[in-house]
Amino acid sequence: KERLRIDKLLAHAGCGTRSEIKRYVKAGMVTVDGITVKDSGLIVVPSEQVIAFQGAQVHYRSVVYFMLNKPQGVISATEDARDTTVIDLLKPEDNLLKPFPVGRLDKDTVGLLLLTNDGALAHELLSPRKHVVKTYEAMVRGKVTDEDILAFSEGVELEDGYITMPSELQIVTRDHDDEGDLTSISLKIKEGKFHQVKRMFQAVGKTVLTLKRVTMGPLVLDEGLAEGQYRELSQEELLSLK
Ligand code: URA
Repeated sequence: KERLRIDKLLAHAGCGTRSEIKRYVKAGMVTVDGITVKDSGLIVVPSEQVIAFQGAQVHYRSVVYFMLNKPQGVISATEDARDTTVIDLLKPEDNLLKPFPVGRLDKDTVGLLLLTNDGALAHELLSPRKHVVKTYEAMVRGKVTDEDILAFSEGVELEDGYITMPSELQIVTRDHDDEGDLTSISLKIKEGKFHQVKRMFQAVGKTVLTLKRVTMGPLVLDEGLAEGQYRELSQEELLSLK
């Protein structure tokens, strides 16, 4: 059972800064199990006590899990001097527990990104030994062929000599424009080397024009999330990860 100071709990719940909260507590705005408390250093057990601020129950959590539909032009880091990061997309109250992105998507890649402060889960999902499957959808310049499907299923050699693990490539639609053939594809890979999908297509002489991640392990991108939007994982999604 987690025990913590009530001022810390209220700060994490977004009720104010530590010094503001101290004043709110003194002013009688905080109750525990219906009884007004005046000591902001009081130790509480959030799983067993009802804490209320200005009459409204405070929902405390020590870990957070967000599914983000990452937009283009935003980087998968927590801080950057020049660019917007995925953390900048969070509301301030959702950043209080300092979630971080689980893995990386390129700046121009869109789609599913999990943000959490659960280091153990992040470690599990990123562990190369776990072979967590990720599905990507891409628009590829060039005509993707059955030979490419076969090559991807066996592993392709990247420009640095690395041979990829077997992957599952599917052709969704073929098209063309003024500049030539276009193929829309779906690809399942179970590893995550730097620029992996782009480099795999380079290995067969094609270029990825747009890239979107749609699944990661059991998680499926919620198509109701517009690019840049996020939501908390549902209980089912969370359980499926553990
Ligand atoms: N592969 C890439 O090339 N880029 C990504 O962002 C993810 C996978």
